Amino acid sequence: MKVLHLGGIKLTLGEGEELLAKKVASILDISINDIVAMEVIRKAIDARRHKPPHLVYALRISVSEDTKLPAEFNEGLQLSAQKDKSEIPLLLSVCPPNLPVVVIGSGPAGLFASYVLALRGIPLLLLERGTPIEKRTKDVQEFWEEGVLNPQSNVLFGEGGAGTFSDGKLTSRTKNPYSSWVKKILVEMGAPQTIITDAKPHIGTDRLREVIVNLRKKLIAMGCAIRFSAHVTDFVISRETISALIVNEKEEIKINHVVLAIGQSADDTYWKLFERGIKMEAKPFAMGLRVEHPQELINSIQYGKWRNHPQLPPAEYFVTASISDLNRSVYTFCMCPGGSVIGCGAFAGFVITNGMSNAKRSGEFANSAIVVNVRVDDFASHGQPLGGLKFRQLWEKKAFLSGGSNYQAPAQKMIDFLQGKPAGIIGRTSFLPGAKPAALQEVLPEFVTDSLRRGLREFNKKMPGFITEDAHLIGVETRTSSPLRICRRSDGQSKSIGGIYPCGEGAGYAGGIISSALDGIKAAQNLILNLS
Ligand SMILES: Cc1cc2nc3c(=O)[nH]c(=O)nc-3n(C[C@H](O)[C@H](O)[C@H](O)COP(=O)(O)OP(=O)(O)OC[C@H]3O[C@@H](n4cnc5c(N)ncnc54)[C@H](O)[C@@H]3O)c2cc1C
Repeated sequence: MKVLHLGGIKLTLGEGEELLAKKVASILDISINDIVAMEVIRKAIDARRHKPPHLVYALRISVSEDTKLPAEFNEGLQLSAQKDKSEIPLLLSVCPPNLPVVVIGSGPAGLFASYVLALRGIPLLLLERGTPIEKRTKDVQEFWEEGVLNPQSNVLFGEGGAGTFSDGKLTSRTKNPYSSWVKKILVEMGAPQTIITDAKPHIGTDRLREVIVNLRKKLIAMGCAIRFSAHVTDFVISRETISALIVNEKEEIKINHVVLAIGQSADDTYWKLFERGIKMEAKPFAMGLRVEHPQELINSIQYGKWRNHPQLPPAEYFVTASISDLNRSVYTFCMCPGGSVIGCGAFAGFVITNGMSNAKRSGEFANSAIVVNVRVDDFASHGQPLGGLKFRQLWEKKAFLSGGSNYQAPAQKMIDFLQGKPAGIIGRTSFLPGAKPAALQEVLPEFVTDSLRRGLREFNKKMPGFITEDAHLIGVETRTSSPLRICRRSDGQSKSIGGIYPCGEGAGYAGGIISSALDGIKAAQNLILNLS
C-alpha cells in the first residue's frame, strides 16, 4: 500500500466532504476506486478578506501499490511525510526512586508531567493549592457574581490550572512532535475529535472542565496520588539539593525530585523560591487591555458578504502592528470568538482580565487581548529578577482602585480611549463581575497607552471597522506570559538547586495550554532519564 500526504485540497462553501475523494482522484489522475482509504489530517478555513472563504484540507490517502501516480503534483499540493508522534516513547528502564516524585501544580504542565511519570509507574504525588473543579467552579461563579474572591480557589488557582476557565484554544507555534500525543490524550479524556484535525483547535471551557475531571480520574487509576488545598509554602534545601517541601506552612514532605509547574501567577511561591536561592532571571513580557466588539461586527469584517454562511464559525482575528519609532510592537493575543471577558485575579486587591468561550462560541461578543511588549529595562527600577512581578502588580492595583475596589474592571469606549478622554458612558460588555467607566490611560504605563493608540489605528487599516463606537476596552491584561524565567541545566534541573525540575508557563518556557503541557512532558522525560 502507498500512503500519501496531500495538502491544499480545497472545498468551496457549500461543497460537502464527500467530494474530497473525487478531487483527490482528479489531482492524482487516478480512478476514485484506486483510493483504498482517506483520512483528514488537517482542516482549515481560509477566510482572507476580499476572497470567497473556502475550506482547505490535508489528507492521508492510501492507494494500492500498483497505482500509477503522476511524477509531479500541482503547485500548493505537497507530498510530505508525517512527522508528528502520537505515542510517547517509553524511555530506558528506571530505578524507582526511594521517595515519591512530587509534582506541584495541576495545570497543563503538571498534569502532563504526571501522566508521563505515571505511565512509567513512578510513585507520584500531585500537590495543588487550589480546589477540585467542582468546588472551584462554584468559587469562580461566586467571584464573578458577587465579587467575593477566594485566594486559593479562583480562575488562576485550582484543578486544571489557569486555562480551565478559558477558550481552550489549543493552537501553538511549537513544532514539537508530541503535540499530537497531547491532543490524543485530551480526546481520550472527552475533548472533541475535531481538535486533532482542526488547524485552529479549541475545546471551550465547558468541555474542558469535563476533560480535566476525566484526566484526574485517569491519573488516580494510574497510581498518582492527588491532594488539593495543598499549598507548597516553603522549600527545604540541603547541600544545594531539594530535600523537603512544606505544605500549608506546617506539614513536611521529604522528597528527592520535584516537578515545579506552578504557573505564572504564584507570586508568593516565586518570592519564596528566590529567598531559598533558586536562580532566576527577568524576562520580557507584554501588557495591555482586552478589546471587545459585537461578534457580528467581527464576522462582517472578516467574512464580508459570507458572514451568515452556516459553514463558517464565529470569525477570529490576529493583528499586529510595529510602532517602529517607539520601538514597540502591539498585537492581539488569545482571541475568544463568541466569548466573555473575565476577571481572573488570585490575590486580594488586584484586577486582571482575560477571556473565555464555551465550546460553541455562541456568545454575543468577540474579545481579544491587545498588548504591547514590555522590556526588562521597563521594570528594571523594580529590582531583579522579580521586578516584573512587582511591575505588573502596580498596574493591576491601579485597575482595582479605578474599578471601584470591588473587582469590577475599569472600562472605556475604544473611541474615547483613542482621544484620551476622561471616564465616560460605556455600553454593555460581557465582563464578569462588571465594568466601571474609567480613563484607561490611568491604569497603564504611558508607553503602553501610546503604543496601543497607535496600534489600534494600524489595526483599523488592516480590519476596517475595528475602531467603532461599539467597541470597548477593559483593563488590565498582564498575563500573556511570565515576566521571569527559572534557569535550567541541560538535564532539566534548576541551575542552582538539584532535584527541582521547573517547567511550564511560570518557569518561563511556555505560553499557552499546549506548550505548557509539552514542557511538562519534557520535564518528566528529563527526570526519568536522570533516574535511569
Ligand atoms: C482566563 C485564561 C484563559 C486562557 N486561555 C487560553 C487558551 O484559550 N489557550 C491557551 O493555550 N492558553 C490559554 N491561557 C493560558 C494557559 O492557561 C496557560 O498558558 C497554562 O495554563 C499554563 O500552564 P501551566 O501548567 O504552566 O500553569 P498553570 O495552568 O497556571 O497551573 C499552575 C498550577 O499550579 C498551582 N500552584 C501554584 N503555586 C502553587 C503552590 N505553591 N503549591 C501548590 N500548587 C500551586 C496553581 O494553583 C495552578 O493550578 C489562558 C489563561 C487564562 C488565565
